[in-house]
Amino acid sequence: MPRRATKRGAERTPLAGDYDLLVCGASFAGLAVARELAGSGARTLIIDRYEIGERQTSACAAPTEWLEAMGVGASMRQTFDTLVVNTPHATARFHLPWTFSTFDYHELCGLLWDQCDAEFDTATVNGRSATTVHTDRGAITAPLVVDALGWKRVLSASGYQPPAAPLSRGLEVHPFGAGDELEIWIDRDYVPAGYSWSFPASDEVRVGVGSFDPRFHVREPTVRLAQDLEREAVRFQGNWIPHKLRAATGDGIFFVGDSAGHCLPLTAEGIRTAFYFGIACGRELRRVVEGRAEPATARRRYRDFSAAHEWHFRWMLRVQKLVPRVPPRLLAAALKGMERGSFVDWSFGHYLRIAHPSFARAPSRKAQQPELQLAT
Ligand SMILES: Cc1cc2nc3c(=O)[nH]c(=O)nc-3n(C[C@H](O)[C@H](O)[C@H](O)COP(=O)(O)OP(=O)(O)OC[C@H]3O[C@@H](n4cnc5c(N)ncnc54)[C@H](O)[C@@H]3O)c2cc1C
Repeated sequence: MPRRATKRGAERTPLAGDYDLLVCGASFAGLAVARELAGSGARTLIIDRYEIGERQTSACAAPTEWLEAMGVGASMRQTFDTLVVNTPHATARFHLPWTFSTFDYHELCGLLWDQCDAEFDTATVNGRSATTVHTDRGAITAPLVVDALGWKRVLSASGYQPPAAPLSRGLEVHPFGAGDELEIWIDRDYVPAGYSWSFPASDEVRVGVGSFDPRFHVREPTVRLAQDLEREAVRFQGNWIPHKLRAATGDGIFFVGDSAGHCLPLTAEGIRTAFYFGIACGRELRRVVEGRAEPATARRRYRDFSAAHEWHFRWMLRVQKLVPRVPPRLLAAALKGMERGSFVDWSFGHYLRIAHPSFARAPSRKAQQPELQLAT
């Protein structure tokens, strides 16, 4: 949970300089990029407006295999092999072919940072001219610049403005307490288009509401859900969530994670995809700093790699639009029908393969990288 560690006042000295690589944003995507550059010899700077891991940006649930593959297993708090889906007319239990784990954000970011050999500093990014990035502490220049700053895509000429942009919105509370089940609710009493969740994480529970419609306000239903679950509505955390893929490069910049719309529609799962595309981006950047590729080649290959996943995102967006239109009784019956083991294995297997953890493990990031391989 938030700990104010960021430099303030007199500590906020000017920051400027030239680097081989500048990564803006030190959360899931930015740290995954920097981690791929470890040992490459590149002079890499990561900047963020907060200290690493200071401000949690999600409910922090991800496939266990991904957390292990990223070397951050020690941050896990609780592991679930079943997803419980509640609707007003039925409850379905999906026994998953793989597990989800909740984790501690601060610890996870620290463990990723331990695997980097970059420099880090706090600075707020305001914009850029060419590959010079302007911050509240000065201008930083690098031939290779990554925007891992989240949905605002700060370094892009064309920003997103809610509520007109293709964004969902999510808000959650973090009461202390314990629970045994990873639960979601598809209940229009809480949110007409979207879902609600309760994710236990050992000594706290993350209870929230996500709306696919950015105009729908989620604070009141979040508080109501917490009350219904007899949890305290305390320690709020929320943000906009992109549900449309965007170009992964532009004007010489690499965009990764939410800044490239890498969060999956329907489920709003954006941590493993931030890792996945962060690794892909980092591998391309490594080829450049090791003299094996030109920057333009790296940009093209990374952009194409990201775009090759577009059809997955398009399909998931179609389902996101469809689910709120299905009559509730029919939806409940359909979910009950989907409880069958063979269907769950098939559908969740496909879902994981959109960004599979094997991508993190092989090929070794220290080895020479051949062509990027799609995990699909
Ligand atoms: C309420 C909620 C719950 C969620 N739960 C889950 C979940 O359980 N599992 C899941 O997979 N996904 C979840 N998501 C989605 C997930 O949080 C995002 O997809 C994911 O965080 C994207 O990672 P990222 O690194 O691209 O961006 P972020 O995690 O948003 O990181 C962006 C970083 O950039 C920094 N930054 C932003 N602007 C500036 C600036 N101007 N200057 C300097 N630094 C800046 C921020 O401080 C931050 O560190 C949830 C989202 C919400 C809103």
